[in-house]
Amino acid sequence: MEGNKIAGKKVTEEELLAQGYRKYSGKGVDIFYNKDICAHVGNCVRGNAAVFEVGRRPWILADNGEAQNSAEVIDTCPTGALKYIRKDV
Ligand code: SF4
Repeated sequence: MEGNKIAGKKVTEEELLAQGYRKYSGKGVDIFYNKDICAHVGNCVRGNAAVFEVGRRPWILADNGEAQNSAEVIDTCPTGALKYIRKDV
């Protein structure tokens, strides 16, 4: 699933927050997460355990990874529970 789009359109922060996503800010990328649609498949944690760590608060630390890598990992989220907005490109 394309992590920077919903229904083929680039997402905006306003849209994501209105849909119940929570924002995890980073320098190069903001990551957004909606727990209500997470299926706990774990692709994110397996993809980069420094950025996504379930037992930690906050569980997402966007600056613990490269924005490009985070975007690629988020693209593997099968439900769309994770989204991102790049700020570095
Ligand atoms: S990859 Fe997506 S659906 Fe799977 S645990 Fe992470 S956020 Fe949830």
